[in-house]
Amino acid sequence: MITIEQIIEAVKEYNPDANVKKIREAYEFAAMAHAGMKRQSGEDYIQHSLATSLNLAKLRLDTPSIIAGLLHDVPEDTSYTLEDIKKKFGKEVVKLVEGITKLGTLKYRGLERYAENLRKMFLAMAEDIRVILIKFADRMHNLETLEHLRPDKRKRIALETLEIYAPIALRLGMGEMKGNLEDLAFPYVYPKEYAWVKKEAENKLKVEFKFIEKIKKIMQKELQAEGIEYISIHGRVKHIYSLYRKMLTRDKDIDKIYDLIAIRVVVKDIPECYRVLGLVHKKWKPLKGRVKDYIAQPKPNGYQSLHTTVFAEKGKIVEFQIREQKMHDLAEFGIAAHWKYKESDIKKLTKEKAIWIDGLKDIQKKFQDDSKYLSEIKVEVFQNRIFVFTPRGDVIDLPENSTPVDFAYHIHTDVGNKCSGALINDEMNSLDTPLKSGDVIEILINKNRKKPNPDWLDFVKTNVAKDKIKYYLNKEKDRKIISLLNKNKIK
Ligand code: MN
Repeated sequence: MITIEQIIEAVKEYNPDANVKKIREAYEFAAMAHAGMKRQSGEDYIQHSLATSLNLAKLRLDTPSIIAGLLHDVPEDTSYTLEDIKKKFGKEVVKLVEGITKLGTLKYRGLERYAENLRKMFLAMAEDIRVILIKFADRMHNLETLEHLRPDKRKRIALETLEIYAPIALRLGMGEMKGNLEDLAFPYVYPKEYAWVKKEAENKLKVEFKFIEKIKKIMQKELQAEGIEYISIHGRVKHIYSLYRKMLTRDKDIDKIYDLIAIRVVVKDIPECYRVLGLVHKKWKPLKGRVKDYIAQPKPNGYQSLHTTVFAEKGKIVEFQIREQKMHDLAEFGIAAHWKYKESDIKKLTKEKAIWIDGLKDIQKKFQDDSKYLSEIKVEVFQNRIFVFTPRGDVIDLPENSTPVDFAYHIHTDVGNKCSGALINDEMNSLDTPLKSGDVIEILINKNRKKPNPDWLDFVKTNVAKDKIKYYLNKEKDRKIISLLNKNKIK
C-alpha cells in the first residue's frame, strides 16, 4: 500500500520547496472522487493514482506533474470534470490532466506498418512533454497489475507498450523507462520466449554474479591506487527483453552475450572517464573493435558513455561502461533529467550536445534559446502534419490540408485511382474537403472507373498522389499516341 506521505517524502528529497499542501489537497480530492471504486485487482482505485504519482516522484518531476498524476483518471472515471479540476488546481494542472485524457483515446490494435504513425500522433497530441511522462508512470502501474485483466486486454496493452510506449521512451532518451516498460510487457506478449530467456539468464547469472563481485573489488583497489575518486561502481544486469532481442541476433546463445552483466563506473568528470578507461586497458587486454567512445560521438538519442570489453581474470570477457554522473542521469532518465539540471547547467548541457534525435531537434532549439523549463517544452515537432484514421482505427500521417484523394492514394494506388467519394466521420463529403486530425475516413470506390480525374491535381497535397495521378494520365496519353501511330501505319 502506497500512502501520500511516501510521495511527499520522495518529492521533498529533490524539491524541498514543493507545495506540499497542494499535493495533499490533490490526494484528498482524488480519494473523494474515486471513493468506493475498486481496481480489477480488488485494490482501492486511489492506489493506482498514488502509484502513478510515486513513479513521477521517482523521475523527480515538478509539482504540477505530481498533482496531475494523482488526478489523472478523475475526469474519465468519476463524476468530477476538468472544469472542477481547473477551479481547484488551476490551468497548468488541468492542461496536463486533459492531455492524459486525450491520449487515453489512442489505442494500438496491431497493424505494424502504422505503428510509427501512432507514435508520432502520440507525441503530437501530447503537446506538453510532461503528459507523456505521466502516461509512462500510469502505464508502469497498469503493467504491474496486468495479470488481473482479461487475457485479450492484457495482450493488447502489453503489445501497445512494446510497439508504441517503449520506442517513444527510447527517443526521449529514457533508457531505464524503456527497459522497465519492455520487461513488464514481455511475458504477456511472448510468454514462451520469456520463460526460455529467463531460465537461460538465471543459470548464467548465478555464476556471473560472484565473478563480477571479484572484478568490482579489483577495480575499487586499482582506482584507489591511482587516486581516482569514483561516485559509484556496480554491476548492472541487462534488461531481460533487450537480452532476448540480442540473443536472437547471436544464434540464441547466451554465451555470446558479453554484456549480460556490465560493470558500470560513474566518475566526476569527462577527463576521469578517460583515465578509468586507460586503467582498465592497462590491467586487462581489450577485445578488438569493442572500444566505443560515445562521449566524443554520442548515440543519436544523446546517450554518452565509454564502452570497452576486456579479457578479465582467467580470460573471462567483461564489458565496462564508464561515464560521469550527468551522463548517467541522462541515460537513465532522458528528458526527465533536465528537471534536475534545469537552472545553471542547462546551457552547458546543450552545448555538450548531450541530447536528442532527429525528430525532436525543435525541442533542443528551445533549450538553446534560453534556460527553459520542462514545462515550456511543447511538442511541436509534427505541427504541419495531421493524423487521421482508417475505419479500422489505423493512423495515417498526412501533411496539413490533405484531402480524401491524398488519403486514398496513401492506402493503395488502386484505391486512389478508383475513388469516387468519401465518408468523413460517417458523412458524405466531396473529394477536395481538407481533412482534420482525428477524422475517420472511408473511401468509396467505383470499380468501373478506369483512371484518375485530372482535376484532382488542383487540390491534392501529397507528392504520392500527384505522381500517381500524373503517371496514369501520361500512360493514357501514350496509349492514345500509340494507337494513333498504329492507325497511320495501316493506312
Ligand atoms: Mn490511469
